Amino acid sequence: MTSDVSEPGAPTDDPGASSSGLAALGQLADLDVRLEQIDHHVKHLPERETRTGIAAELAELVSEARLLDAQIGDLERQQRRHEDEVARIEAKRAHNSERLYESHLTSPKEAEALTAEAESLGRRQIEIEDQILELMEQLEPLSSARADLARRHAAATERMAATDAAIAAAESEASTQHNDVIAEREALVGSADPDLVSVYEERRAVGRGAPVVGRLVGTTCSACHLEVPSVEFERIVHLEPDVLAECPQCGALLVR
Ligand SMILES: [Zn+2]
Repeated sequence: MTSDVSEPGAPTDDPGASSSGLAALGQLADLDVRLEQIDHHVKHLPERETRTGIAAELAELVSEARLLDAQIGDLERQQRRHEDEVARIEAKRAHNSERLYESHLTSPKEAEALTAEAESLGRRQIEIEDQILELMEQLEPLSSARADLARRHAAATERMAATDAAIAAAESEASTQHNDVIAEREALVGSADPDLVSVYEERRAVGRGAPVVGRLVGTTCSACHLEVPSVEFERIVHLEPDVLAECPQCGALLVR
């Protein structure tokens, strides 16, 4: 940004401005190009693409986590069912032991039955405890994969926050630049010939982004980069400085 903006309304120090009002239109066109560049830049920040990538990554991590959580939940429910059963068996075994030791309440036949049941319960308990161990073995890799997913999710969330911060910073910087250029533009419009500015604005309104002003660089129009035919060129360069002339190729107003 030039320092011109600190003095809005101050006459521009471009030497062309005094020689031709058309030069102001050239400067106006330059500022409008600058505005478009600022807006284009902020709209197409590489961080926006990064953000889309991270968002997709996060969505995938969340759906992977959901799948894993369902598998883990299923195994944990099975484990709890088995643990509850072990608790029931242990309670029953304890109850049986009590009855066995209170021998005066127990007939030999009854004691035999209790012993047999105790053995059967013991076998069943070992069986279920083996199943619990198997479930825990299945759970272990799933839990570590789940923890890994959580770490990756946290890292991606952090990258997302950094990306959002970068976008916000770029947007704020672009907004400052935009406002600076707008101020510069207002100062320029304030000091330029209003009739020329009207011509410029009208052409710009119908031009749909096509350059409204071109500079003669040698015999070439800077708007379309085509050579102005020599007869036309001779005519244009001999016009009074403020007489409007169009590029015969693209119709841009020629600053000369
Ligand atoms: Zn042209």
